[in-house]
Amino acid sequence: MKHRTDFLRIWDNPQTEEVGDSVEEFLHLLGGPTWIDIPGKDPSRSRAIVTLLHGNEPSGIRAIHQWLRIGHTPYVNVVCFIGAVEAALAPPGFAFRTLPGSLDLNRCWQEPYDSVEGHIAQEVLQRFQRFNLEALIDIHNTSGRSPCYGITTQIGDKQKALTALFSSQLVVTDLRLGTIMEATEFETPTIAVECGGNHDPQSDRLAFDGLSRFTQTDSLFPPGKEYSDISIFEHPIRVELRKGATVAYASSPVEEADCTLRCDADNFNFGVLHPGEQIGWAGPNQLDVFLARDAKGRNRAKELFSVLNGQLHIAQPGRILMMTTDPILATSDCLFYFLPSTSQ
Ligand SMILES: [Zn+2]
Repeated sequence: MKHRTDFLRIWDNPQTEEVGDSVEEFLHLLGGPTWIDIPGKDPSRSRAIVTLLHGNEPSGIRAIHQWLRIGHTPYVNVVCFIGAVEAALAPPGFAFRTLPGSLDLNRCWQEPYDSVEGHIAQEVLQRFQRFNLEALIDIHNTSGRSPCYGITTQIGDKQKALTALFSSQLVVTDLRLGTIMEATEFETPTIAVECGGNHDPQSDRLAFDGLSRFTQTDSLFPPGKEYSDISIFEHPIRVELRKGATVAYASSPVEEADCTLRCDADNFNFGVLHPGEQIGWAGPNQLDVFLARDAKGRNRAKELFSVLNGQLHIAQPGRILMMTTDPILATSDCLFYFLPSTSQ
């Protein structure tokens, strides 16, 4: 480790033999939020990789560690920001999205930058400004099982090209949550990549292969290339529990919970659902426990879901994304996102 600023550790050009034999050792060497500079063959150009904004999403840092171990020289300079290192290190390892008492490191990329996480975000954004970045990718995992897909707030050929490094599915969102992508989207083509479930070895392979393509290619955006094989899914609706409400994941209704979702509900991720598909069971307050906000802030819960004989059903065709089966994450962030078919 070379030096520190107020909020970041700075590691300039880490060598293969310095990064540890395992990703756990690499995390210990980082010790906290870290900025890494890796010089490229063409030092006049730069690309950015962000990962581990959530401590329980290991595929991106595993990919970076594996890639540093190989010792490739990237085609252009690569700058990396590795975020929630302490959360990832907390026993048993890769178990906490954020540490208790800390804010979500992918919800703080907007003013006011008055929290520790906000100060970290502000310093990273200031560092990005020093480079004329060609592109930025932010690598995540879903906490439930899911295929790999990209997410963007701006849709164009560059976002499709970045997605194609990892997947053929791209979600375009107009929800605004304070993510890093919202802070960089106008200056730098940016996508977030959900590489798949955080316990799935396939997710690690996809992250590594995509990262290798991102760093090794001369041109990310070859002129004239079309991306007709990329499927676009627009405008997901974020489905949350109302404050204080509880969810259980089970194979039959749990009486103490305000709603119960099927314990295999993450199998729904990205599949097409038809009206009448049962996703769980409603509690006494029925659909009032849900807030299903679209980008205009409207609550669409009663359009999206229905209750029949205590069973919770999908009421219109669509897809579910980012369904977790972790009640803590579901309560602190959201239950899942819903993409109505009418807007696909
Ligand atoms: Zn994440």
